[in-house]
Amino acid sequence: MPPPATPAERLHQVLHRIHEAAAAAGRPAPALLAVSKVQPPEAVAVLAGAGQRAFGENYVQEAAAKRGALDAGLDWHLIGHLQSNKAALAAQVFDWVQSVDRPSVAAALARHRHPARAPLNVLLQVNVEGEAGKAGCHPEELPALARKVAAEPRLALRGLMSIPVPHAEAEARRPAFRRMRALFDALAAEHPGMDTLSMGMSDDFAVAIAEGATMVRIGTALFGPRPPR
Ligand SMILES: *Cc1c(COP(=O)(O)O)cnc(C)c1O
Repeated sequence: MPPPATPAERLHQVLHRIHEAAAAAGRPAPALLAVSKVQPPEAVAVLAGAGQRAFGENYVQEAAAKRGALDAGLDWHLIGHLQSNKAALAAQVFDWVQSVDRPSVAAALARHRHPARAPLNVLLQVNVEGEAGKAGCHPEELPALARKVAAEPRLALRGLMSIPVPHAEAEARRPAFRRMRALFDALAAEHPGMDTLSMGMSDDFAVAIAEGATMVRIGTALFGPRPPR
């Protein structure tokens, strides 16, 4: 058996697979967000040392601790559900919040983003398949939520994010990815600052890229299976 790949080798393998998928689809290669939830700061430091800059976290406090433990110069993205009572801390800790799905959270982030810092980059999370009880705004609510975010000087509306229903077959998620790209294109016509469509994870990123993702969020394929939290 070959020795297990090092984190830097896994990073280069994932980047290679991303570029291959993009080339096959005739699309530009998307950005890679390394999903570091549950991983210790040392694991983030290793990937940062190999050149990775953007990291995704699901929990606000966990990200605050890691950001404090690591060098400046990394970009931190919140990809987990955001409760209103965590918005003040989230507005300080993160460079991007990908999980904005209602006006109250947008308003709270804007209120707490320090004026001396660059505007907080925002993606609107979409519940594209209309699953009951799932985070994300419904597609019909998008235009109003986008206008609300765009009107906040402390926020920069950068695009959309979605987490499709898990299926055993990545191919089964293609219609959801395609719908997201259509929603993104329609909204970007109204909001020219929108440049980011975040979709695709370890087991389905090739399909997401084929359907027009500009950012993929990958944890397991980079760090290996997650330890229990
Ligand atoms: C955990 C997580 C990911 C990464 O999932 P993997 O299958 O480990 O690549 C991506 N996006 C979100 C929102 C997540 O919570």
